[in-house]
Amino acid sequence: MGEEQRILIDRYQRVHNYLRISLTDNCNLRCFYCMPDEHYQFTPPAQLMQPDEIEAIARIFVAHGVNKIRLTGGEPLVRKDAADIIERLGRLPVRLTMTTNGTRLHEFADVISAAGITSLNISLDTLQADKFLLLTRRNQWQQVRSNIDLMLAKGMHVKVNVVVTRGVNDEEILDFIRWTEAAPVHIRFIEFMPFTGNHWSSNKVYTWQEILDTVSSRYQLEPLQREKHDTAKAYRIPGHAGTFAVISTMSAPFCGDCNRMRLTADGKMKNCLFSQSETDLLGALRRGEDLGPLLQANIASKHAAQGGQLHPVFQQIDAAHIDNRSMIAIGG
Ligand code: SAM
Ligand code: SF4
Repeated sequence: MGEEQRILIDRYQRVHNYLRISLTDNCNLRCFYCMPDEHYQFTPPAQLMQPDEIEAIARIFVAHGVNKIRLTGGEPLVRKDAADIIERLGRLPVRLTMTTNGTRLHEFADVISAAGITSLNISLDTLQADKFLLLTRRNQWQQVRSNIDLMLAKGMHVKVNVVVTRGVNDEEILDFIRWTEAAPVHIRFIEFMPFTGNHWSSNKVYTWQEILDTVSSRYQLEPLQREKHDTAKAYRIPGHAGTFAVISTMSAPFCGDCNRMRLTADGKMKNCLFSQSETDLLGALRRGEDLGPLLQANIASKHAAQGGQLHPVFQQIDAAHIDNRSMIAIGG
């Protein structure tokens, strides 16, 4: 097969070269917007992709043009064999990154650097320790906050993911911006998205425009040049060491030049965060089948926007009728 045929391109001419791999649907935090409830059944370890299987599937994606891989979850660093997986993927010719809740970064700092990871997304929705406990049901704010400083001290590019929910943390937006005055952190405000069992309603979405209005009530801001495939609309404030961005999935989706694919921890390929259909790559790998045609067919079926199932006007989305996994089972 010629090289040009091995690119993953969909009906809308979008080339897919970015794979997000979930290592587990397990987590040591319980963020209300991500995990359905305390009784969520984690996938049994035998059903998860094993390190050699993750590497094998990742290599097939690389042979089909993937040049960027993000590890996510659940919490990727709660897997006992996380270091082995990071080392294996660090040997591939890709830009390797990770999204983590930050609680265990101090244990993995050397492994992460050795694998060539230079940029991390760390989630932190509040700058208040007591509120963190309410949001995540775990008392780990101090650990996350000090691990962010540890990563910055090591010269890591740190993006802080903040899911903004009306009435929960929208009044902290300016506190996060104040953090960027002296620290080279990149704050990414994320609009609250609907997933199975996460109590989403449109009035809880604090929108891109509202975030900009809040920031510009205090600061002068300048838009930064958008990179191709960027999901974030980025801004700088003159004189600040850090920057900020908004991920406007709900009020202004960015599907037009999407290049992302996902692999769930149980080895199912999804061509969109909101896709209903999945392709069982792990089962096929275990049966010794050729995965190439499965990748191609999955991408060929990709919808133009938001898995073909979200109403483009987010105020009209009926969350009860979304057919999807919860965020923790997809991999954020
Ligand atoms: N455990 C890791 C973490 O928290 O960073 C990685 C997995 S988590 C599912 C990935 C990202 O998705 C996090 O930044 C989290 O805040 C975000 N996320 C989870 N549920 C969300 C939702 N309903 N709306 C918007 N972002 C969400
Ligand atoms: Fe865990 Fe991350 Fe989901 Fe929070 S957002 S429950 S840290 S997987």
